[in-house]
Amino acid sequence: MNVLDSDIKYLQGVGPRRAELLESELGIRTFGDMLRHFPFRYVDRSRFYSVREIDSTSAYIQLRGRITAISKPGTGRTLRLVARFTDGTGCIDLVFFKGLKWIEDKLKVGQEYIVFGKPSVYNREYNLVHPEIEPATAARIDKPVAMTGIYSSTEKLHNAGITNKTFEKMMSDLLDKCSGHIEETLPAHIIREKNLVPLAEAFRTVHFPLSQQALNAAQRRLKFEELFYLQLSLLKQKHIRMRASSAVVFKRIGDNFNKTYENLPFPLTGAQKRVLKEIRADVASGLQMNRLLQGDVGSGKTLVAILAAMMAVDNGYQACIMAPTEVLANQHYNGVFKFIGHTGVKVALLTGSTKTKEREEIHRGLLDGSIDIIFGTHALIEDNVQFRNLALAVIDEQHRFGVEQRSKLWSKASLAPHILVMTATPIPRTLAMTLYGDLDVSVLDELPPGRKPIETVHWTETQRGMLYSFMKRQIKMGRQVFIVYPLIKESEKMDYQNLQDGYMAITEAFPAPEYVTAVVHGQQKTENKAYDMELFASGRAHILVATSVIEVGVDVPNASVMVIESAERFGLSQLHQLRGRVGRGAEKSYCILMTGYRLSKESRQRIDLMCSTNDGFELAEADLRMRGPGDFEGTRQSGLAFDLHIADLAKDSPILEEARQLGQKILADDPDLVLPGNALLKRTLDSLKLEVTDFSNIS
Ligand code: ADP
Ligand code: MG
Repeated sequence: MNVLDSDIKYLQGVGPRRAELLESELGIRTFGDMLRHFPFRYVDRSRFYSVREIDSTSAYIQLRGRITAISKPGTGRTLRLVARFTDGTGCIDLVFFKGLKWIEDKLKVGQEYIVFGKPSVYNREYNLVHPEIEPATAARIDKPVAMTGIYSSTEKLHNAGITNKTFEKMMSDLLDKCSGHIEETLPAHIIREKNLVPLAEAFRTVHFPLSQQALNAAQRRLKFEELFYLQLSLLKQKHIRMRASSAVVFKRIGDNFNKTYENLPFPLTGAQKRVLKEIRADVASGLQMNRLLQGDVGSGKTLVAILAAMMAVDNGYQACIMAPTEVLANQHYNGVFKFIGHTGVKVALLTGSTKTKEREEIHRGLLDGSIDIIFGTHALIEDNVQFRNLALAVIDEQHRFGVEQRSKLWSKASLAPHILVMTATPIPRTLAMTLYGDLDVSVLDELPPGRKPIETVHWTETQRGMLYSFMKRQIKMGRQVFIVYPLIKESEKMDYQNLQDGYMAITEAFPAPEYVTAVVHGQQKTENKAYDMELFASGRAHILVATSVIEVGVDVPNASVMVIESAERFGLSQLHQLRGRVGRGAEKSYCILMTGYRLSKESRQRIDLMCSTNDGFELAEADLRMRGPGDFEGTRQSGLAFDLHIADLAKDSPILEEARQLGQKILADDPDLVLPGNALLKRTLDSLKLEVTDFSNIS
């Protein structure tokens, strides 16, 4: 048996009780799991700092000096022990709130100590709260521990006596115990070619680094391995799927496509042309297309979808275009005629509010093939909807559709339909490669010409008067204004209250009949929603007050002002989506981010970034950096089905690229990993049991 598979309870000092805790709190079951519980940061104890050097940027520091006085101010809960400490360059207080008796016995005035901690400010002076402290023995001074790993832990573990020191001890014991038994998981030629540190050495170094350089090399090795096996697994699935699923072939480009193309009111952007070529190659290949189309708001994804649908129709097949909301499905449907009205192609719309009689007619039309393209919402995937020969499914705003719903769509065709998933939430490339490793990704990275950049500003509550006069000026110039309120599930009730209050305030500041204000939110009856939406879309309402439902929808070119209330409550990607609702017409557009006066540092960063760039990908990358992949808009539902222990999707994209390329090269020669030279890869991959979401049946 591989020693790394040993049960963690057999490690010295662990035992059954702690083993149970380690598993429930951190998912550590085996020696191997423990070795892969990597420090999440390191503190540098390779040098001594002086008190004088301490400033507001100081992280953990190590000091060497003497205690000059010990006092115990405060009473009851405020009782604390304060040791005055000096190293000759200045004085600082060491403060303890717990275990006073024990500390008091240990500390002696006049003796030399090494202390270690993070400075904080109290009463405008720096101090160290609960620093680590030990006598400054000669041995300790001469041989400073180079770097110490800090392990993530939990309160329960801490209460069970598992401190950072305990982790260090466990790791050290574990490394000794496993020494000579850690099997390499990468073949020698990869280690050589990629200049990687062997696994055993990487484990030792990552827990007990002797230098920053050694640590970097160890981390690179471990990250590479992690990302490499993840990619290998994803790519292998893709190979299997490609082999298994034969799909409809769209042999030709026909009349309908050409008639549409030649009649477009504007030339396609270069990016649109490129993506259409990519799609064209996919649907002609005989293999099922699984393509993710990313494009910033307004980049013209809908038209790409329509032209792709025309490819299906010209080959005698049906296509469906699904939207996440009724408003959006309506808009797609209504918008299609200006492009294809002159062709004979038959389109229809099916949503939750389609009347029974019409619904039955549509069902018939889909079944007998008289409807070529169907637009709609979730209603399209109900069980009683059947197609004659569905061959292309376009899913707009993919993250709003659950996995289960997508698989239902799949069941509506005898041969795997080609799938085009469109999203306006730019997903950073690294994340896309990992989340959708087996999908092909196209990017519309070019906006149609003539769009004026949107000016984004940040105003606070004190500037509300200014906001209203700005809106009035814009309205006088014939423009329309969106006002959006956040809607967060957990505080839904309060959010609706905010929206209602906001609506009241707006109708007071912008009184009828001079001003018309429409309101749209999720608690409205469908017909009221449609009515108000239409009021705004037709230009009869000056202002639309809404929840973030409009995020994914509506194209109102005349709307040139987007006001986002409580903007700090939205993520960057979401803010960007909302902002994309304006700037679609010829007029200069504005996005006004309203927040309270006080903001957390992180919120301020987000808002500042919004004001400084219009680039969705840049914002998405920043979002990923700030919030991590787990929180990433659009991935929350799909969820990363695997845990990355050490690699960071936001920072390690070069390693990821390298790993992916290597994986591709290996699988191109040996897709099943049956060659003897790849036996280790296959064994390791199988043992990892990576639970990567299987997209083959869902999108
Ligand atoms: P999104 O990618 O956000 O779905 P849309 O497809 O709604 O973008 O396109 C936004 C607007 O741009 C629509 O009014 C559409 O008709 C228009 N549009 C699309 N492609 C072009 C183009 N190549 N040139 C000019 N306008 C275009
Ligand atoms: Mg769209």
